[in-house]
Amino acid sequence: MKNTSFAELQLLEPILRAVRDQGYDTPTPIQSQAIPHLLDGRDLLGIAQTGTGKTAAFALPILDLLAGERRPTQSRRPSVLVLTPTRELASQISESFAVYGKHVGVSQTVVFGGVGQGPQVQVLKRGVDVLVATPGRLIDLISQRHVNLDSVEVFVLDEADRMLDMGFIHDVRRVIAQLPKDRQSLLFSATMPNDIVKLAHTILNDPVRVEVTPPATTVERIEQSVLFVEKADKRKLLGMVLRDKAIERALVFTRTKHGANRVVKSLQQIGEKAEAIHGNKSQGARERALEGFRQGRVRVLVATDIAARGIDVVGITHVINFDLPNIPDSYVHRIGRTARAGKDGTAISFCDTEERAFLRDIEKVIRQKVPVVPEHPFKSKGGPARGPARPATSQATSKQASQRGRTGGNKGAAGRGRGRGGNRSGNRSRSGGRAMARSA
Ligand code: AMP
Repeated sequence: MKNTSFAELQLLEPILRAVRDQGYDTPTPIQSQAIPHLLDGRDLLGIAQTGTGKTAAFALPILDLLAGERRPTQSRRPSVLVLTPTRELASQISESFAVYGKHVGVSQTVVFGGVGQGPQVQVLKRGVDVLVATPGRLIDLISQRHVNLDSVEVFVLDEADRMLDMGFIHDVRRVIAQLPKDRQSLLFSATMPNDIVKLAHTILNDPVRVEVTPPATTVERIEQSVLFVEKADKRKLLGMVLRDKAIERALVFTRTKHGANRVVKSLQQIGEKAEAIHGNKSQGARERALEGFRQGRVRVLVATDIAARGIDVVGITHVINFDLPNIPDSYVHRIGRTARAGKDGTAISFCDTEERAFLRDIEKVIRQKVPVVPEHPFKSKGGPARGPARPATSQATSKQASQRGRTGGNKGAAGRGRGRGGNRSGNRSRSGGRAMARSA
C-alpha cells in the first residue's frame, strides 16, 4: 500500500503543525484510511486496538472540523463526545486532543469517576467543545443536569469491546439514548463479538469500515518466549529475569490486584523500583505510578488487565506475563503494549502447571507456538516437551520463526457509498465550506 503523507490528508495547517511537533512522519494505516472519510462526514467502524494510532485517527479530523467551524462554545453542551471505558484511556485521549489541538482554539475536558466532581462541573459550566468521558461519571453528570448531549455533532465510542467486557454496555446505551439522531458516529473496537456488531448497527449509519493490524500481525513483531515454572517460584524467577539490563521499562501483568501488590512488595524487597497500578489504588496513586514509569523513575509497573487498558507509554521494552491470562485476546492486548507505533518489543511469559491450558489457547489464537526457554534455575518439574529456545531475554524468538514480513494488515476500507445524504456536506471543499460535516 502506498504511504500517504499527512499533507495529502488535507488537514488544516495548524493541525499538521501539531502533528509535526509530535515527530510523526507518516500516518499510520488507520489514520490514512479513516481520516479522509471522517473529514467527509462519514460514520466509521474502526476495528483496531490501542497502539495503532487510532486516537489521532479520530482526534485529528474532529479537531479539523471544529477548527473550521468557528461557532461559539456553549455552556454544558459539548459538540463532540468521546466515550471510553477507563480513566487512563480517557486521560490519554484528552491529552491527545490537547496536544494535537494546541494551535487551534478548541476547548476540551475529561470527566471520570473516582475523583471529585466539583472541578469537572465548573469546566462543563464554562463550556467545552470536546468532552472525553467514562460512562458512569457521564451519566451522573447528565442526571444532575451538569451536561446536556443535545448539541453533540460527533460521537466516538472507543474500545467498545472493553465496554462490554467491563459491564458498561448498559451505561453506554443510556448515553446513546441522549444523543441527537443527526450526528456523525465512530465506533472503535479491537474485536467484533456479536453484541458489538449489534451495537454498531444501532449507532452507525452506513459506516465506512476500516480494519487494521489483526492480532497476528502485531504479535509477529514481538519477541516472545515462555518459561515453565512452579507457581511458588514465580517471584524469584521474576527477580532473576529483571536482572537483565536490557529491560528498560517492563510492564508486568498479574491476574489479580492482590497478586500485583505481592509482586511489587517482593520486587521492592530486592531493591527494584516497582509500582502497582490497579483499581484499588486512588486515582492520584495510579497517576503518580504511571508518571514515574513514563519518566523512567519506576522501571517496573505491575498491572492487572483492566488497569492496564489504554496505558499509553512509549518505550515499554518488555511485557512480562507473571500470570498467563485465561482469555487469549488479553495476551494479544498485553503484549501489544510493547510494540507501539511500529516499534518491536519482547514478551516473556511465566506458565505454571495450571496455566498450560491457557498457553495452548493463546497459541491457537496467535497461530504460532511460543518458544520455550528450556533452561533456567526455576524450571518446573513437569517441564516442557517442546522447545528449544535461547534464554528469555536473548533474541531467540517467535519473530524469526514467523518472519513473514509486515503486511500492515490493512484490509482496506469497505462499505463505501455516500453518508447520510441530505444533511451531509458530501465532498467537502478544502478551501471553503469548512463547516462541520452536517448542516445545522
Ligand atoms: P494509539 O493507538 O492512539 O494509542 O497510539 C499509539 C501511539 O502511537 C501513541 O503513543 C501515539 O503518540 C503514537 N502515534 C500515533 N500516530 C502516530 C504516527 N502517525 N506516527 C508515529 N507515532 C504515532
